Amino acid sequence: MRATQAFIPTLREAPKDAELISHRLLLRAGYIRPLASGVYSYLPLGLRVINKISNILREEMDRVAGNEFFFPALIPRELLEESGRDKVDVLFTAKPHDYFLGFTHEEVITDVVRNTIKSYKQLPFLGYQIQTKFRNEPRPRGGLIRGREFLMLDAYTFDRSEEDALVAYKKVRESFGRMFTRCGLASIAIQADSGAIGGSLSEEFMVLSEDGEDTVLRCSVTGYAANAERCEAIPVPAEPADTEVAAMEEVSTPGVKTIEEVSGFLKVDATRLIKTLVFVAPDGSPVIALVRGDRELNEAKLGRTLGGPARLAEPAVVERVTGAPVGFAGPVGLPASVRIIADREVATVRDGVVGANKADAHFQHVLPGRDFPEPEYLDLRTAVAGDQSPIDASGVLYTQRGIEVGHVFYLGTKYSSSMRAEYDDVDGTAKFFEMGCYGLGVSRTFAAAIEQHHDADGIVWPITIAPYAVTIILVNPADPAQTEAAETLYSDLQAAGLDVLLDDRVERPGVKFKDGDLIGVPVKVTVGKGVADGGTLEIGLRRDRNSKQAVPIADASAHVLGLVKQLKDEIQANVDTHVV
Ligand code: ATP
Ligand code: MG
Repeated sequence: MRATQAFIPTLREAPKDAELISHRLLLRAGYIRPLASGVYSYLPLGLRVINKISNILREEMDRVAGNEFFFPALIPRELLEESGRDKVDVLFTAKPHDYFLGFTHEEVITDVVRNTIKSYKQLPFLGYQIQTKFRNEPRPRGGLIRGREFLMLDAYTFDRSEEDALVAYKKVRESFGRMFTRCGLASIAIQADSGAIGGSLSEEFMVLSEDGEDTVLRCSVTGYAANAERCEAIPVPAEPADTEVAAMEEVSTPGVKTIEEVSGFLKVDATRLIKTLVFVAPDGSPVIALVRGDRELNEAKLGRTLGGPARLAEPAVVERVTGAPVGFAGPVGLPASVRIIADREVATVRDGVVGANKADAHFQHVLPGRDFPEPEYLDLRTAVAGDQSPIDASGVLYTQRGIEVGHVFYLGTKYSSSMRAEYDDVDGTAKFFEMGCYGLGVSRTFAAAIEQHHDADGIVWPITIAPYAVTIILVNPADPAQTEAAETLYSDLQAAGLDVLLDDRVERPGVKFKDGDLIGVPVKVTVGKGVADGGTLEIGLRRDRNSKQAVPIADASAHVLGLVKQLKDEIQANVDTHVV
């Protein structure tokens, strides 16, 4: 492609509201343009990267016998009613008909499979697609990182037994690991929460990045990694188990509501406060959750306990259930019908403070089990850096930030049983399929690659997903010798199968160099003064200024091909050694 014919609208400045580096560079380097909140157009350069990533994904799916489909984006309401996912909060509805816009396609492929795969002889089966997904994200963020419309590879496995399904899970998990490595990304697989999709075993692929939304907790000894939504929190006792506790008494705490306020007013450490939170369970019933004052209740863990996402109760519900306005609820004296669950650490609070279930009052000297019935103790708090590792008692947890680029789930029969998807097994009995589902954010991977690969001047693409492998900067298009050298190299490299961008614009050289660095093509050739001076071109790697070399025109093509091979080999070496 010639820059004079290409649509590459670079910008000097990124819009002020673009905070993430990938978002800024995607806009500045002319890869995407916004249309609405969380909705972007891929410009030609952006589409080239998307296509490169997609081709790698297809090749890797081929290796594990994946069958490529293309499902509709419009999904009839009745189909999602079968699995109960017609109530999922991120769904977009398509009017005037009763369709949803696809946010993931478990129901659609299960519908195809239940009508076609009838016998165990047709298993195992792996189907996938690469398609646009729609989710009404409340807070679209970071450009392609969290959009309302985005590209995903979604894969689904169908098997006879749990054992076979876990083999399939491992296979796709490994396949995802290879995909990321081939795209030039360093990723780790971590223990994850299953969220709205359901199921039991699940891992996320994380690209570590300081600007990532997810908190990853890692064990200092074993390297074990888990999402903070998932990581087990080992209790740290609040007080010695033999602490004497005086009789419970009510204290007046006018207008004192938050943990900080109560702690300051009563001069009691937050570790001795018991936070009382009122939630509404998925079945609509109120649930009281207790967590120590210095800890965060983990809503993902709460959701797992309650069999689905719970929401914080409205003030009116809090008052109805506890008799107190928000800020003064507590576990003492509640009707036996109200379910109370507590984080395990609450059991170690011996001289505690809780809301008194009436305005402007708290109880102090509270002992769980004595002053209120022992609740169900569960792991409900979010683990933090410094906690003991749940995997190795000698390990300590530390945190890293990550961008979730992929998610693999073992589903069991969650969808096949609710949708009655069965096959006939060897013995002639009808059985529900054992399923797995796997999602890889194609557009998010695109952005995550930039988060990992950029410098002060712009993007530094891994060769495997770069829009072009080589850029040739023709410094002076009015100079016939330079033009001839550039044109010859351009056609030679194209004949050798490379994607080449020739900057033949009549522009100041500084502008061309800046644009070239911004766009991030991995191999750079400058056709300039060297042509007249000594018959040479300047060839180097975008990632390393010092790699520039003056190469005789006759050797230029071979030199470029050598660099491209070197970059590809480096990535391939990572693929060969990387174990997820
Ligand atoms: P998140 O926790 O980031 O909201 P999720 O857990 O809802 O994502 P999955 O349903 O697991 O996402 O989707 C599979 C993959 O699709 C994710 O790992 C991510 O790479 C990508 N993805 C999900 N939501 C978005 C989005 N709004 N924009 C871009 N990519 C997304
Ligand atoms: Mg996920």
